[in-house]
Amino acid sequence: AGSGKFFVGGNWKCNGTKDSISKLVSDLNSATLESDVDVVVSPPFVYLDQVKNSLTERIEIAAQNCWTGKGGAFTGEISVEQLKDLGCKWVVLGHSERRHIIGENDEFIGKKAAYALSQNLGVIACIGELLEEREAGKTFDVCFRQMKAFADAVPSWDNLVVAYEPVWAIGTGKVATPEQAQEVHVAVRDWLSKNVSAEVASKTRIIYGGSVNGGNCAELAKKEDIDGFLVGGASLKVLPCYSYGLCQ
Ligand code: PEP
Repeated sequence: AGSGKFFVGGNWKCNGTKDSISKLVSDLNSATLESDVDVVVSPPFVYLDQVKNSLTERIEIAAQNCWTGKGGAFTGEISVEQLKDLGCKWVVLGHSERRHIIGENDEFIGKKAAYALSQNLGVIACIGELLEEREAGKTFDVCFRQMKAFADAVPSWDNLVVAYEPVWAIGTGKVATPEQAQEVHVAVRDWLSKNVSAEVASKTRIIYGGSVNGGNCAELAKKEDIDGFLVGGASLKVLPCYSYGLCQ
């Protein structure tokens, strides 16, 4: 972990019911959090209000997506204004499931990031390569291309956290080794330094996602450029999943 405040996000994806979420929230509310860790959870849209109204203020809320601009005649979309109205502080954008299952491209994701930031909604900006891209030696090319799309679009980096999530590690149980993750994190930081500014490179938190759990997080967190985690599957259970953000 570097010098910025450690950041642990739980991405609940399209999981949960009113009952299971109420149990998860009550477990989170009774957990002891370390003071120097930002903890954020990302429930499905339909449960955002329930979570906001029942979860301790200590934990912030992220949406899993947003529209590219002001709300209006965009059936099925959710606007940044609506997310802020519910008390969301963050939005996850560019998640691999949205890129590769839903088909969102760099430009569309960049537009969303720009609008969210312009309205003071923080962005968890996800990047990461597919297995075949890694095997073809294209990991850096892909990550830098995705970074450039964010860089070309966003007005500022103040409220943006980069999440490096190699697609082959997401939901597969195949976590990147601390060395594999560190190698990309340092390359992304270096990219920021060369293409944005040295200040942004040193201040921007770069978190790792991909099969993080209570058993592997401590080793990953020792790496200099790993500033936190985005946790999927394991975030649906409190103790193992947020273990780096919690004193147990
Ligand atoms: C994610 O979806 O952001 C993720 C990292 O998932 P998992 O932890 O389940 O691999």
